[in-house]
Amino acid sequence: MGWAYNQQQEQPQWDIFADDEFVSVVLKGASRFIPAISAYADEIPTSVTHFAGYYTRTDDNLPVMGELEQGLYVSGAFAGYGTMAGCASGELMAEIITKQQPPEYLKYFSPDRFENAALLDEILQYPSGQL
Ligand SMILES: Cc1cc2nc3c(=O)[nH]c(=O)nc-3n(C[C@H](O)[C@H](O)[C@H](O)COP(=O)(O)OP(=O)(O)OC[C@H]3O[C@@H](n4cnc5c(N)ncnc54)[C@H](O)[C@@H]3O)c2cc1C
Repeated sequence: MGWAYNQQQEQPQWDIFADDEFVSVVLKGASRFIPAISAYADEIPTSVTHFAGYYTRTDDNLPVMGELEQGLYVSGAFAGYGTMAGCASGELMAEIITKQQPPEYLKYFSPDRFENAALLDEILQYPSGQL
């Protein structure tokens, strides 16, 4: 089970994530939709394995894909959905690099969007969809 309930923006630290309440919080949260889990929430079974990581993301939670300067491309900031989006992003990057006509929606992923106030306003009116 995973739950990105800590949504504070922060610089990455190498220290081990040390929220002793994490397992309990996740079990209690999950018991809302799998009620039988509540039996474990107050008496956590042994052999719990806990790992953590950072979502590398932009403020609008969309990836950054495109050409930064001639011959230098970026495809990153896939936050919590990069495994799912990997194949589609590869296809888009191939279209960008081989100078094919990319889909119109690629502008929402453009590295230039942060200098385009009108486009950013349009993007930010939608929920970020944070997983
Ligand atoms: C806890 C957690 C859970 C997640 N769960 C899911 C999920 O359920 N589903 C999903 O779709 N996505 C999930 N994600 C997101 C997904 O893992 C990422 O979006 C995806 O791995 C990003 O892929 P990437 O290739 O862009 O970057 P990365 O996988 O971060 O790859 C970047 C690589 O570059 C290397 N690197 C960095 N700097 C240098 C350098 N200077 N020189 C050489 N190499 C360098 C790094 O070592 C790394 O191997 C999760 C992420 C986290 C943290």
